[in-house]
Amino acid sequence: MTSVDLDVATSAAIESEIAHVAQNYSPLPVVISRGEGAWVTDVEGKRYLDLLSAYSALNFGHGHPALLAVAREQLDRLTLTSRAYHNDCLGPFAAGLAELAGKDLVLPMNTGAEAVETGIKVARAWGYRVKGITADAAEIVVAGGNFHGRTTTIVGFSDDPVAHDDFGPYAPGFVSVPFGEIDAMEAAIGPQTAAVLIEPIQGEAGVIIPPEGYLRAVRELCTRHGVLFIADEIQAGLARVGTTFACQREGVVPDVYLLGKALGGGIVPLSAVVADRDVLGVLRPGEHGSTFGGNPLATAIGLRVVEMLQSGEFQERALALGEHLADGLRGLIGHGVTDVRIAGLWAGVDIDPAAGTGRQIAERLLARGVLAKDTHGQTLRIAPPLVVRATELDWAVEQLRVVLAG
Ligand SMILES: *Cc1c(COP(=O)(O)O)cnc(C)c1O
Repeated sequence: MTSVDLDVATSAAIESEIAHVAQNYSPLPVVISRGEGAWVTDVEGKRYLDLLSAYSALNFGHGHPALLAVAREQLDRLTLTSRAYHNDCLGPFAAGLAELAGKDLVLPMNTGAEAVETGIKVARAWGYRVKGITADAAEIVVAGGNFHGRTTTIVGFSDDPVAHDDFGPYAPGFVSVPFGEIDAMEAAIGPQTAAVLIEPIQGEAGVIIPPEGYLRAVRELCTRHGVLFIADEIQAGLARVGTTFACQREGVVPDVYLLGKALGGGIVPLSAVVADRDVLGVLRPGEHGSTFGGNPLATAIGLRVVEMLQSGEFQERALALGEHLADGLRGLIGHGVTDVRIAGLWAGVDIDPAAGTGRQIAERLLARGVLAKDTHGQTLRIAPPLVVRATELDWAVEQLRVVLAG
């Protein structure tokens, strides 16, 4: 193929999407057809370093051999039973994940938003059945700048107008307080409060790390007021920040973990709510479910993910590579970058408007073989697969330095 034919392949693929796919995203103009480790290849054969990892769903990289092997083996054996029957993969997965989290029980779902919805239902049922909250009066305290998914209940308590506006009427029962401000959270907690729901580090908001001690203070507050602490670790958890769970950065154990994204190994959607029996045990048969939740294909892969996390290897890589990346990115402050926030191998890089918008920088990076995505206008979110090499990160930082210089 000549390069002209190859350009045609890209535009044809993009045009067919524009013609037939609802425009609820604005993707970068690149059409990926293969992926391996930290790298992807487009339909023209050009290679790119993936600095987004599908928002942390690809923490283990594209096509990790151990995950592909278990997926292939399971595909030939059994893929779906529904929970009308037992299957021989769900139990081992749940046992492994519960042990990893130090909790009793796992409730498997598919997408992250479903895990959040499940967490909300469980917290409300716990509020009525255990805490004794007045019927239909339960409240959940959330944080400003949150991102918990796209369902109608969840977008109702988002303060991002793009996520929120025109999708009402919104579900009541949520109180929002500024992220990182413990006094505001305490003031919002009352006798009808069932839970606090926060991201330990806010991903979509631009990798916003709360002040040191905040998670410990939230834990203490929840314990003192008899309120469940629900940590949405869907993007921050599973090794991304250098610990298995982001709450571990402050030595904190929430009552409920919400997990997703990397749990499915970048192969299948798999999410979970993980908590002790006194919380998740409130649900009775028939009160909640999902046709695909806990299916054998997903949970076979999920068990392998849990085993990979048990080794600690990916957490260590995230820490070491993150320190390396931090050195490189901080060197750009004052050279087109105004601020860098970094936790493990996860960075929010604020672009100086004089150097361009986040989107423009992402497009210029694309032309140089680096894929990264902007969030909220001026921030680039950098979350490479944890299998990336330090030298590859150096190269990516160098490309960023070049595009920021114009
Ligand atoms: C991505 C994300 C979700 C939603 O997950 P989906 O699988 O897209 O539904 C929820 N919470 C956080 C923190 C996320 O990053």
